[in-house]
Amino acid sequence: MGWPMAEVIELQPREALERKRRQESARRRSAAVASALACGLCPHRCAHCGQTIEEPGAPQPEAPYPFCRECLEEYQAFRRREGGQTSPEAFWHTGEWAAMWRTWLMYMRAGDDFRRSAAFLRLMEERQD
Ligand SMILES: [Zn+2]
Repeated sequence: MGWPMAEVIELQPREALERKRRQESARRRSAAVASALACGLCPHRCAHCGQTIEEPGAPQPEAPYPFCRECLEEYQAFRRREGGQTSPEAFWHTGEWAAMWRTWLMYMRAGDDFRRSAAFLRLMEERQD
């Protein structure tokens, strides 16, 4: 009939310890999510290659993200290819190269969507507490 009282009492600290361990793990994971996404778009860094941009703030109306000059040229070549240009401008402008740009742009948009989501805003708010 039931457990001896001593065993019931012994379970409680273990559960509390387990809960504390889970909370600590969640805190570290939310810190990793925040640091990976919080400064995702620095105007001084190329969003594609990470290189420092020499002229930050230079208008790039056709670029969805801050790009260095070389990545902007690559992005524009990708756009021309997507627009139907059939002759490659460089030998590396292959199907795989286009797929890389397409997927990278999707990845960036997914990051933008997540950054704007209620869950991410809550995560950032809770990190300030
Ligand atoms: Zn770049």
